[in-house]
Amino acid sequence: MADLPPLREVIARHGLAASKALGQNFLLDPQLLDRIARVAGDLQGQRVYEVGPGPGGLTRALLRAGADVVAVERDRRCLPALAELAEAADGRLRVIEGDAMAVDAAAEAGRGAHIVANLPYNVGTALLVRWLEPEAWPPWWSSLSLMFQKEVAERIVARPGSDHFGRLSVLAQWRSRATIALNVHRSAFVPPPKVMSAVVHIVPGAMPAGVDPATLSALTAAAFGQRRKMLRQSLKAMPGALDALATLRIASDRRPETLSVDEFVAVAKTLS
Ligand code: SAM
Repeated sequence: MADLPPLREVIARHGLAASKALGQNFLLDPQLLDRIARVAGDLQGQRVYEVGPGPGGLTRALLRAGADVVAVERDRRCLPALAELAEAADGRLRVIEGDAMAVDAAAEAGRGAHIVANLPYNVGTALLVRWLEPEAWPPWWSSLSLMFQKEVAERIVARPGSDHFGRLSVLAQWRSRATIALNVHRSAFVPPPKVMSAVVHIVPGAMPAGVDPATLSALTAAAFGQRRKMLRQSLKAMPGALDALATLRIASDRRPETLSVDEFVAVAKTLS
């Protein structure tokens, strides 16, 4: 591992010009990459699932931290560079070629794995929602440490009443703890994106009893699907929802961003 060439050289040698369509903004600074890997905690001997290793900067940091890594990369151009890294990693890196949306991550990485990724912006939130929505809780993963555009990171950790509070906030907070662990300046990426980024850290917590996760998911989708509307309008097509509001004495002229996470959970529980 110590003899690996600098990432810039790997990128040049393998012709890995960043593709916008694949959301490619690479990180090259080993110190920053080590800090991102540390967000997940002590990774010595731990299993990590990484989406989008690209030329392998974050993958190197995860391996330096002592993790066993399963990485899924869609861009075939990156595979020779990742094969070199796998060889240097002595069996601690397995690369899967494919679309992370189509991979059974739990089966590939196994129960207890940490998910660490500098996510491609086009599939980042879809993957996060998938990881937050399983029926069984605690989920198969032990923690999520994920780079997002700053604005998405703020939505994930937002508190009720804030402009950023929305469906992602409720899904990330009703049975998990979500924090922004690290802000990352746009200039750290090659090429630099237009916006700032942040690493969000999420760990599973206790799941409130009697709530069907699919019901909570549908409730938040309906409520925030028409964010500017009062709940009596946005929830009217959801059977039982307005009765649940009345039972819980939640005024139906409120807008969704004014409800606390606990109130969303209470409505979902009444509906479940
Ligand atoms: N991890 C590298 C780093 O930090 O420098 C690259 C991060 S770059 C923001 C996102 C990576 O995800 C790219 O390598 C891209 O090819 C890959 N990618 C994009 N869509 C993907 C998908 N659906 N499944 C797997 N990888 C994907």
